[in-house]
Amino acid sequence: MPDHDVAIVGGGPVGLLLACLLAHAGIDVAVYEKRSMGDARSRAIGIHPPGRAALDAVGLGEEARRQALELDGGDVLCSGEVLASVSFTSRQQVLILPQHRTHALLVERLAHVQPDAVHLGQVVRDVRDEGEVVRLSLEADGVGREVTASVVVAADGVRSGVRRLLGVRWRARRGSGSYAMADVADVEPSTRVRLYCEPGGIVESFPLPDGRRRWVVADPLDRLHDGAAFAREIQDRTGIRPGEATALEPTVFRAQQHRASRAAVGRIVLLGDALHETSPIGGQGMNLGWNAARRLAAAIERSLRSGTPDFGAYERSALRSAARAQRRSHFYMTMGRPVDGLSLGARNAVIRALGSPPLRRSAADLITMRGL
Ligand SMILES: Cc1cc2nc3c(=O)[nH]c(=O)nc-3n(C[C@H](O)[C@H](O)[C@H](O)COP(=O)(O)OP(=O)(O)OC[C@H]3O[C@@H](n4cnc5c(N)ncnc54)[C@H](O)[C@@H]3O)c2cc1C
Repeated sequence: MPDHDVAIVGGGPVGLLLACLLAHAGIDVAVYEKRSMGDARSRAIGIHPPGRAALDAVGLGEEARRQALELDGGDVLCSGEVLASVSFTSRQQVLILPQHRTHALLVERLAHVQPDAVHLGQVVRDVRDEGEVVRLSLEADGVGREVTASVVVAADGVRSGVRRLLGVRWRARRGSGSYAMADVADVEPSTRVRLYCEPGGIVESFPLPDGRRRWVVADPLDRLHDGAAFAREIQDRTGIRPGEATALEPTVFRAQQHRASRAAVGRIVLLGDALHETSPIGGQGMNLGWNAARRLAAAIERSLRSGTPDFGAYERSALRSAARAQRRSHFYMTMGRPVDGLSLGARNAVIRALGSPPLRRSAADLITMRGL
């Protein structure tokens, strides 16, 4: 008998959501997370309809809606002119909640359903599929031990060690760019996103709960490392002062896209960023992982019942959705590149067309992850 039905490597938002789904279904689950404390990094903020459905499935929808800011829609501008505006219907509703708060909700929920599920400060060093069970080698405070499970899910992020151990290829996909980002006090509170598609590159401005705002600035020359340079660039491109430069601490990140060549090898399955790295531009990565977690939970239930691992359908749907989401992110990044002359006119014409009445609804569907 294995120690657990399912062991999950990585207690990020995707591993935790899967653990909640499995625990709700009465499946014994253990999550091994190398960090000893929560992750305070500011990353995902956008929860799209597929993400809302995933939170509803674990009984967190209402609480997330209570804590989050509800987005009305957004406007795309260039040189002071509004090129396109979309408003979301209730079906398209997007919630804005910083990732550390979503994480806290998931941790609390899992503790409620299966109190002993999360094991912090545990580094997974090795995984071996032994046919009937998978054996995990763990290390905590320099001490090693082993546990077994019927199924192991690697939700250990972009730099997944399990993916490397399995020898699964990690293929680069189109879409990359450098950006600087900061969350600051909002000088002009609103519930709409503003995308400034300026000749020097995009400036994105997202409302956050509690009177804060996230600014994301395309930084093709990789030079916006301090608050003063960051604030000056926003002002130069948009005419807006985002707050006190000294209070800004920009995080610089390189957006990239990758996809694993396989999602499952025997009883070991890849999930979330371990399976697909999706550019933060478009805010899809966590939602994509949650959506796949729902399909995987159903496949795990079936596999445990039949005694035979069968993750073929999960693999096909998760990789297909990731490919679609990555094409969308690549498109968004292309629209936000620095551009001038005739190319600027052509780019703005595309944005105007997407915001025109016949296409506006489809554009909102695209942005809110319909069909993924
Ligand atoms: C700036 C930015 C903005 C973003 N905005 C959005 C957004 O608005 N919407 C959206 O949907 N997505 C967004 N994303 C993407 C989102 O943050 C990721 O897709 C999401 O965090 C992936 O979750 P995960 O659980 O798969 O991986 P991770 O969050 O990376 O979690 C993996 C976990 O595994 C643990 N781990 C790794 N190796 C081991 C090991 N050997 N043993 C034990 N534990 C291990 C790590 O410590 C970590 O906690 C954004 C990303 C960035 C960078």
